Amino acid sequence: MRFSNLKELALLCADEGKPIYLIMLEDQALESGRTAEQEWDKMKQYYGIMKEAVTKGISSEKLSRSGLTGGDAKRVHEYTRQQEASLEPFTGLAMAYALAVSEVNASMGRIVATPTAGSCGIIPGVFVSSQERFGWTDDHMVNGLFCAGAIGYIIANNSFISGAEGGCQAEIGSAIGMAAGALVELKGGTPEQAVHAVGLAMKNTLGLICDPVGGLVEIPCIVRNGFGAVNALAAADMALAGVSSVIPSDEVIQVMLEVGSAMPDIHRETARGGLAQTPTGRQIIKQLAKDRKKFRSELKKR
Ligand code: SF4
Repeated sequence: MRFSNLKELALLCADEGKPIYLIMLEDQALESGRTAEQEWDKMKQYYGIMKEAVTKGISSEKLSRSGLTGGDAKRVHEYTRQQEASLEPFTGLAMAYALAVSEVNASMGRIVATPTAGSCGIIPGVFVSSQERFGWTDDHMVNGLFCAGAIGYIIANNSFISGAEGGCQAEIGSAIGMAAGALVELKGGTPEQAVHAVGLAMKNTLGLICDPVGGLVEIPCIVRNGFGAVNALAAADMALAGVSSVIPSDEVIQVMLEVGSAMPDIHRETARGGLAQTPTGRQIIKQLAKDRKKFRSELKKR
């Protein structure tokens, strides 16, 4: 890649008069040795998988394998369409779609890790709801995924994208930054505005710990995806309105690295702290262990 941080990416866009997605598409093709068309087709398939996961998750009441989660996306989808909902309908839709894809992940369905399975709902939530709202084509959305990919590439190479390394800020925070920056470009914003959106978004999740109950990517992961989609919409709007990230976005990414490195192990996907070790969290783990034991002894009897 010809860029290693967001500043270089924005400068490259300015020098070549191209949007972020096109720089990413060209560079990715060069790096992989495949043609731009092949790269683009692969990304189009990924977008298809995201849309399928939204459709599946929004209509399903199926519980996850653990039985802990499932059906919330459908509930939220129905509720946000009512007059009483606090969020306007399309924001509610983004939230519901993000929950839907995360629930599909929890029930072992097919998703695209964006950037990880734990944060797989945010980009589809933002993208699919925005496509419905603005009437964009699939091709436009695929371009947006390349923009999100460029942002994710930079975050991964300068900080973390996994909860085990940097806490939930690295998964959910990165996904929000990717979705926010991409949405700015999808809406016709400049690369510079997209870069500001990344910093605005990621500042808001700094310090977020990774504390999945029972080590399962369900609680609190699924709801964090729902909130993440809403945050991404807000960050994109702020950037498009002209709000800039006073602390440059590359520096925000560095802060995420600093905070994640200082995070104790109990808050980095080990399920030994945070929500995972609350009285209720521990109770759930005990119950899951009992259920597994019962299941194993029933299997033996067969
Ligand atoms: S809590 Fe941990 S496992 Fe769950 S989404 Fe956040 S980083 Fe991923």
